[in-house]
Amino acid sequence: VFNFSAGPAVLPLPVLEQIQRDMLALPGVGSSILEISHRSPTFIDIANDAKARITSLLNVPETHEILFLQGGSRLQFSMIPMNLLLEGKPADYVLTGSWGKNAKKEAVKEGKVQVAWDGADCSYNRLPKQSELKLDPNASFVHLTSNETIEGVQFLHEIEAGDVPVVVDCSSDIFCRPLPVERYGLIYACAQKNAGPAGVTMVIIRKDLLQRGDAELPGYLLYRNHAEADSMWNTPPTFAIYVMGLVAKWLQEEIGGLAKMESLNREKSSLLYDVIDNNSDFYVGHADADSRSLMNVTFRLPSADIEKKFFAAAEELNLTNLKGHRSVGGVRASVYNAMPLAGVRALADFMQQFADDNK
Ligand code: PLP
Repeated sequence: VFNFSAGPAVLPLPVLEQIQRDMLALPGVGSSILEISHRSPTFIDIANDAKARITSLLNVPETHEILFLQGGSRLQFSMIPMNLLLEGKPADYVLTGSWGKNAKKEAVKEGKVQVAWDGADCSYNRLPKQSELKLDPNASFVHLTSNETIEGVQFLHEIEAGDVPVVVDCSSDIFCRPLPVERYGLIYACAQKNAGPAGVTMVIIRKDLLQRGDAELPGYLLYRNHAEADSMWNTPPTFAIYVMGLVAKWLQEEIGGLAKMESLNREKSSLLYDVIDNNSDFYVGHADADSRSLMNVTFRLPSADIEKKFFAAAEELNLTNLKGHRSVGGVRASVYNAMPLAGVRALADFMQQFADDNK
């Protein structure tokens, strides 16, 4: 089956095979990864290895700390403003789609939030130009969503925010391209799309920002506690961290790093966008060409009935989970890092044939 789910999503086959080998007993340990203490030397090695691989892949500088947390990206929607909002300095939110709006919805509960740009008028089908952003130089931070998983628009460039720390939700595109980590105040990503299984959320935070959180916050919600305890302030999601380490290893050793991953992702997503563009009398892409996501390809067909037929015919060919998010409908093909080129080729061929047969 080629599974185009938006998340939890496909994992690389070598990662699944390694999990299968380790599941009954880790070599030399005699217990499985699910059964060992997070304080054991074996797990500490696994967590340090995952961190070292991520540091190397993303070129994380000394100025930044990697944390492995729980609660998904949704908890980050609250933790970020709880920790980073400063007295008298609002936060700027750039709303490029559903996830940006969700992030803002939680942030307003914590303090003053301003909207630096809102794509509502264009149904979130494009990103803002730098000149359209109303950024406040006095803001505590500016929040962006790197890839809007539902609408399929993605920042493949950085924005300029002066001295204001940029906070970015990379939940659905972390590791899809090299990222200049030094330009960000905080990067966060739940793992279950491009980096591993559900259960762990990675936060990469500039170390000076760790000092901002109020010590009176509930302990789990203070980034500083996690940084000081090397992400072991409470029992961490051990299995999910182990798998994330295997995904990082796959990216390093089998793909050859994030620049290679980006060119593969461009090749894969272009196969689908080309079919859409070559059949523009049939498929209607949601995103403007220069805002298109490498990860989530979103489009519509001429009618709901034809869409239904499309999903059924795709299922017949084992091309699964192509339905758009329940809030927007249409078709969404999620082609994360682990989706093989063969899967995307099969979908592109099917789309062309379906258009030929149903125009
Ligand atoms: N942000 C983005 C861009 C997402 O795609 C998602 C999940 O789909 C979330 C946040 C929420 O993540 P979680 O379900 O881990 O809280």
